[in-house]
Amino acid sequence: MHEVDQTTEQMVRSVLAYAENRLRMNPVPLDKSTMPAHELYERLDGLIRDAPRQPDEVLGVYSSVIAPSVISADSPRFLGFIPAAPTKASLLFDMLVSCASIQGISWLEASGAIAAENTVLRLIADEAGLPAGTGGCFVSGGSAGNLSSLAVARETAKKRLGTDRRLRVVVGTDAHSSIVNTLRLLELDALVVDTPDHRLTAETVRSAVEADPDPSDVAALVCTSGTTNAGIIDDLAGCGAFAHERGWWFHVDGAYGGSGIFARSLRPKYDGIEQADSFILDPHKWLFTPFDCCAVLYREPELARATHTQDASYLDVIHTAGNVAGEWNPTDYAYHLTRRARGLPLWFSLAVYGVDAYREAIEKAAWLAQETAALIKRESHLELIREPDLGVVLFRRIGWSGKDYDDWARQLHEDEIAFIPPSKWEGETIGRFAFLHPDTTLDLVREVLARTKP
Ligand SMILES: *Cc1c(COP(=O)(O)O)cnc(C)c1O
Repeated sequence: MHEVDQTTEQMVRSVLAYAENRLRMNPVPLDKSTMPAHELYERLDGLIRDAPRQPDEVLGVYSSVIAPSVISADSPRFLGFIPAAPTKASLLFDMLVSCASIQGISWLEASGAIAAENTVLRLIADEAGLPAGTGGCFVSGGSAGNLSSLAVARETAKKRLGTDRRLRVVVGTDAHSSIVNTLRLLELDALVVDTPDHRLTAETVRSAVEADPDPSDVAALVCTSGTTNAGIIDDLAGCGAFAHERGWWFHVDGAYGGSGIFARSLRPKYDGIEQADSFILDPHKWLFTPFDCCAVLYREPELARATHTQDASYLDVIHTAGNVAGEWNPTDYAYHLTRRARGLPLWFSLAVYGVDAYREAIEKAAWLAQETAALIKRESHLELIREPDLGVVLFRRIGWSGKDYDDWARQLHEDEIAFIPPSKWEGETIGRFAFLHPDTTLDLVREVLARTKP
């Protein structure tokens, strides 16, 4: 072995020191992204040139310009959109996956990494109650998971119906934007079911389908197990049964809320999820894993393989290697080829902390949501919009316009108290808490709500 050159030596020291420092921060600073675009580009301009630079100089630009211009999604004060809270174990192992150039394409190249990822997929499948043959892979996110799943749904329906005509998918009005995109990309149309209570139920689906002149072109039904805006779980039991009665594919989008299956108190809300033909869950959301990571599971993985396997002479060798029981090529289960073994940080972290720690951390967010709802109900100037199902709480500040919510949120962020951008509910601007980080406190919630006082 040769010694590494001086530049490498220096980078190992500086970059690891930076990473160590970030890992030891508890909590991490919320940060803002307030530098105007022109200033950001000016500060970065010319940094990449023909000649090399000292690594510490470049790292300095990262720490003084780039890092503070990124809001920390993993801060316990990040209460907007869907926050992140990767465990320290998963962050560390993510570094290792990079440093060791671990890929996760095929059994031939990466059997160990794939076997470990598959134990995590199995754990999720067991928690959902999916059968023994279930399998899939990790992809970059829920959008990629939904696209990969519904591609399989479409191909399967085409075979079942013996047709090449344009097909439809039954979706509720609160389905995620990525489902809408997916349908457009796959040239599928939506049979949109209007949901008065924002929850897709077997009855709402049944009446929409009965009112439809010819539902014979329906390929699939999509349910959401935890809507992004409100955390609402569709009637999975009723919808799943109805879909299967009709011979449709049943897809469950659990990108945000799917992880709730790990919390004992929440598990009954997911009854029926075991009927899913495909199920996705983003560990980078509520399973405490670094970006970017989505688990895609198929009840009958061979249907996914029939859709996604890439055929090329130079790939024959990986497929002939994949014919022995247990051997698995993740590349065959989504529309990707090269992939990083992004399930490994989760595997390491689950093994280190144990599954119970995950169950408790998920319960914590649901508890915070319940407590926050109770605080809101106690205030006469606030109104709870609906009882929280998971970790999201929607509320109205009586008398506020959209601008009032914006000003309130801007000031909270300016003061680095919280990042809590307003959302919309039935066209009206509202306040929205998204709880996920186990270190978010009820005291912080009190502080945020205190600023709504008349
Ligand atoms: C976040 C989310 C998605 C999209 O997932 P990405 O990882 O952002 O691509 C899809 N569906 C639901 C319900 C989500 O919450």
